[in-house]
Amino acid sequence: MFKKLHLKLTAYMGIILILFMFFVASGIYKFTKMVFEDGNKELMKTEAIRVYNYRNTVFPEFFINGTLFNRLRPNALLESKRLDACYIVYDGHLTKILADEGEIKIADDIKSLAVEALQEGRDSYKTLKIGRFNYRVYTKYFNDLTGESVVQVYQNTVNEEILWKFLRNVLFVIGITGTIILLALSYLLTGEALKPIKETWIRQKEFVADASHELRTPLTVIQTNLDAVLSDEDGTVEENAIWLDNAYSETRVMAKLIDQLLTLAKADNNEGKLTLTEFSFSEVVENVCHNMAVMARNKNLDFEMNIEEDIVIKADYDKMRRLVVILVDNAVKYTEKGKVTVSLFTDKNRKILTVEDTGIGINERDIKRIFDRFYRADKARHREGGTGLGLSIAKWIADMHRYSLTVESIVNEGSKFTLRM
Ligand code: ADP
Repeated sequence: MFKKLHLKLTAYMGIILILFMFFVASGIYKFTKMVFEDGNKELMKTEAIRVYNYRNTVFPEFFINGTLFNRLRPNALLESKRLDACYIVYDGHLTKILADEGEIKIADDIKSLAVEALQEGRDSYKTLKIGRFNYRVYTKYFNDLTGESVVQVYQNTVNEEILWKFLRNVLFVIGITGTIILLALSYLLTGEALKPIKETWIRQKEFVADASHELRTPLTVIQTNLDAVLSDEDGTVEENAIWLDNAYSETRVMAKLIDQLLTLAKADNNEGKLTLTEFSFSEVVENVCHNMAVMARNKNLDFEMNIEEDIVIKADYDKMRRLVVILVDNAVKYTEKGKVTVSLFTDKNRKILTVEDTGIGINERDIKRIFDRFYRADKARHREGGTGLGLSIAKWIADMHRYSLTVESIVNEGSKFTLRM
């Protein structure tokens, strides 16, 4: 399922990348061409003006005895050339009065543009295919004291076309290579992004499987015990008290389990909002300890409390109380002899709660998973009353408050849970 999703996401990314690359590459190409064409147009226009001015100043027409003479000095014009282009100058009657056509003899092919310019009285800039080549032609219309005239500046674009083709190829290769590299990267990154989702999904699946399993166990116990009661048709309630007690205590386990499952389901849906109030945490810890001390005394355990007074916190009252209950309850539950010590104090501006016991301890392998849902260090030994959800709820409460909950433990010596606030 995740492999398919991974490939699908990469494919979507690929499509986006290809489209993006296509638009970027064609954008770069079109923009460069546009800037180039604009620049060229301006250059050709300037060249047309230069040729025209040259014709009017350096080549003045003059008449001697009614004959028109031109003082032709074409070299001067060629020397001051700033553009590798040819030109033709027509007067208002379309008579060619000046020209530098070089090798490119296309004057007749582009004369129609000059005619057009004269008729419409405006300039034009066009690229035409004549024979095998393309030519760029700027036709400039002049109308001043000397009368109407037209200057045509043109050039062969074959060299540029080679350059444009080269640019197209370069952009294509860069585009394809870039897309392949980015695609590979996106495959890796999508994989990374999917990892937590995959983990959550697997955890959720495990959670559902574990929850069903955990609910089935007390149900089976209840059924077995009630079967025993039912099979004893003449037995009194007292005679069957042991089976009924067993069934009853399992219903308590189930109730606790369902309550914890609900809490965690809410936590998963981010529904577990905090209702923050300021309250004396010292009082909460003290109150929980008083209740738990009874349980400890029943097990012949010492119960020590070192609770600094008036430690106030701003937190969710119910959740924090629940956290304390889980820690102290576990300490009493997993300690057979010795004592349980609960301390609350302030250290370097941090409020610290420690719950210490001299119980069975937790080995190194288990300690890493102790906050995982349904994790019980020794399932067989601690089946009674335990659900394996208490510490995961405690950790979730601590995390919600941005407090840190840690544990240190030595097998058969005891454990110490520390909550730093
Ligand atoms: P449970 O309902 O089983 O107590 P928890 O989530 O509270 O579930 O605890 C998970 C497991 O961590 C327990 O089953 C037990 O093995 C271990 N554990 C928790 N607290 C202690 C402790 N104070 N001493 C030793 N082991 C503990």
